[in-house]
Amino acid sequence: MSVKENLEHIKNELNTHQPTIIAVTKYVTIERAKEAYEAGITHFGENRIEGLLEKKEALKDATFHFIGTLQSRKVKDVINVIDYLHSFDRMSLAKEIQKRARQPVKCFIQVNVASEASKHGFNIDEVEDVLASLQAYDKVQVIGLMMMAPHIDDELVLTRYFESLRALRDKLSKTYPNCTELSMGMSNDFALAAKCGATYVRIGTKLVG
Ligand SMILES: *Cc1c(COP(=O)(O)O)cnc(C)c1O
Repeated sequence: MSVKENLEHIKNELNTHQPTIIAVTKYVTIERAKEAYEAGITHFGENRIEGLLEKKEALKDATFHFIGTLQSRKVKDVINVIDYLHSFDRMSLAKEIQKRARQPVKCFIQVNVASEASKHGFNIDEVEDVLASLQAYDKVQVIGLMMMAPHIDDELVLTRYFESLRALRDKLSKTYPNCTELSMGMSNDFALAAKCGATYVRIGTKLVG
């Protein structure tokens, strides 16, 4: 199906909720990414530096989100070419970003809401201390929280995870007024995530795949 048709379906499912849609183009060609751009998508997500650079070269006016695990030694290659980092998942990244970034980088703290061994990110009860520590790094500008939900179909359990991230954001934003965004929801769960307050959804398979 065309990206345009996929986008229409997604917008129908999102209904009245209007998070920013990030097209995750990690599985697809530059041509397909261009098709997404022509369909009106301006935000793109990639999890590898090579993929990001080639899509950015082809779509110079688009906004780019780095969504994958960022190795410390790759920070210098990626940090000044992206618009957002969704995967701030360990404190050691702060030092490297501080050293390499030419200007403050908009970051999401990645939270492992279900404490899954297979997933990166901070546990939910660590995030407040992390945010406090990050105040010492002016190049790391935390604008919100990011999560990847477990691969389950139980909507009640998923809702509980999405709402726990939202509650954490609500609490933190009282002390840190810039921490307002929620990056959550992928192909399998974007409608539910949006209902629970996502401000960014990251969609690959169902949009461009
Ligand atoms: C691949 C990926 C997505 C998109 O996944 P789909 O299920 O294809 O929509 C979203 N977020 C992250 C962090 C990813 O790695």
